Amino acid sequence: MPRRIVILGAGTGGTMMANRLRRRYEPSEASIAVVDRDDRHVYQPGLLFVPFGLAQTDEIVRSRRRQLRNGIDFHETEVEQVVLEDDVVRLADGTVLAYDVLVVATGAVLRPEETEGLTGPGWNERVFTFYDVPGAEQLARALDDFDGGRLVVNLVDMPIKCPVAPLEFSFLADWYLTERGVRDKVEMTYVTPLDAAFTRPVASQHLGGILEEKGIQLVTEFATGEVDGSQGRLVSWDEREIPFDLLVTVPVHEGAPYVTRSEGLGDALAFVPTDPGTLQSLARPNVFVLGDATDVPASKAGSVTHFEGEALTENIDRFLAGEELSATFDGHANCFIETGFGKALLIDFNYETEPLPGRFPNALGPLPLLKESRLNHLGKLMFQWMYWHTLLPGRSIPGIPDAMPTSGKELQRETV
Ligand SMILES: Cc1cc2nc3c(=O)[nH]c(=O)nc-3n(C[C@H](O)[C@H](O)[C@H](O)COP(=O)(O)OP(=O)(O)OC[C@H]3O[C@@H](n4cnc5c(N)ncnc54)[C@H](O)[C@@H]3O)c2cc1C
Repeated sequence: MPRRIVILGAGTGGTMMANRLRRRYEPSEASIAVVDRDDRHVYQPGLLFVPFGLAQTDEIVRSRRRQLRNGIDFHETEVEQVVLEDDVVRLADGTVLAYDVLVVATGAVLRPEETEGLTGPGWNERVFTFYDVPGAEQLARALDDFDGGRLVVNLVDMPIKCPVAPLEFSFLADWYLTERGVRDKVEMTYVTPLDAAFTRPVASQHLGGILEEKGIQLVTEFATGEVDGSQGRLVSWDEREIPFDLLVTVPVHEGAPYVTRSEGLGDALAFVPTDPGTLQSLARPNVFVLGDATDVPASKAGSVTHFEGEALTENIDRFLAGEELSATFDGHANCFIETGFGKALLIDFNYETEPLPGRFPNALGPLPLLKESRLNHLGKLMFQWMYWHTLLPGRSIPGIPDAMPTSGKELQRETV
């Protein structure tokens, strides 16, 4: 009897794992079923470019089915519940899928309704998010009409997908408004609950410096309590107020709601407690997790999801063979950060090592770390091709190891 592998979610992680596992096992060894609610796979990093007219949404959306290798069963329906005790998943179309191994890859969802007033008056009129397709499209129209005033970029709370994306948005907005000749009529402010521009000290220093150079005011430790869209006010829990004419916000993120309906699977925010090295869930030995759905202390990023893939494939193999799992995932993350005017920065880090200056992927590598360059910008643009043709098919990126390379990094600069 083939072993039954069920994968929940056909986004970055689910698609990649299905393809990796299909290559690893003959159909006589394992059946692979994947579940997602629709057939629209969004290349999410591309959402950053939509508000500035640098990408159209039809260029960043493809059929999910068509990203899956032959021999993978795709169920286009909602996951209702995982019943851990019975090793089954209940789907909205009435199907019950039994599994020997379950892979949870249902990512994170936006919860704007969790913040008082955010989806009230002004939502999608002067208050926007670019974190989903409709939001990015509506923001494109609003930015096109924006000729001056107070532009505030805000992240409500961590964790969020791609923690650098709101910074990139700010840098690109500075470029876009300059190109349109209205930058000097716009007061820009970046508002974060963190105590600096980013989560890690050395990168925060660099990114905070870029905000300053571009004349973008940085407001830290701002715990957003309320958004008043009719008056244009962002209000913190400690009653500080920031006025805006246009607010671009990143709402609170949580895990998928079915996780809460699945007894024993998730935590209070519907993320799935996961061993950070093996990617096995803490709920059951035959349940594995990757990508944004986990609670591991790595960035919620497509690059992290990709680097998790090899360790997870290996561990599913070991689990099915009755062998001990190996704790090989090191938290490796790698992100290009657009800084506008055709340049970008690159950061590369893991659980232990924060983003540091140097070269990538090694001491002689062509890409500078934590330094703006044209080559990094071209790397960011090329990433979309890599996503569809290398990441999703579940292949390694040539020359880029799954574990974080230490060669090329100025490790003596580390402060933590
Ligand atoms: C604006 C933006 C910019 C970004 N930029 C970058 C970047 O530059 N670099 C980078 O590395 N990462 C970036 N990311 C993050 C990256 O896109 C995610 O980290 C990555 O997609 C995570 O993969 P995943 O498989 O965990 O989740 P996803 O790719 O989101 O897939 C989850 C899937 O689960 C499905 N699903 C959820 N619940 C259910 C249910 N109940 N029933 C059926 N299906 C369900 C969803 O439909 C979805 O297809 C960005 C994200 C955003 C929003």
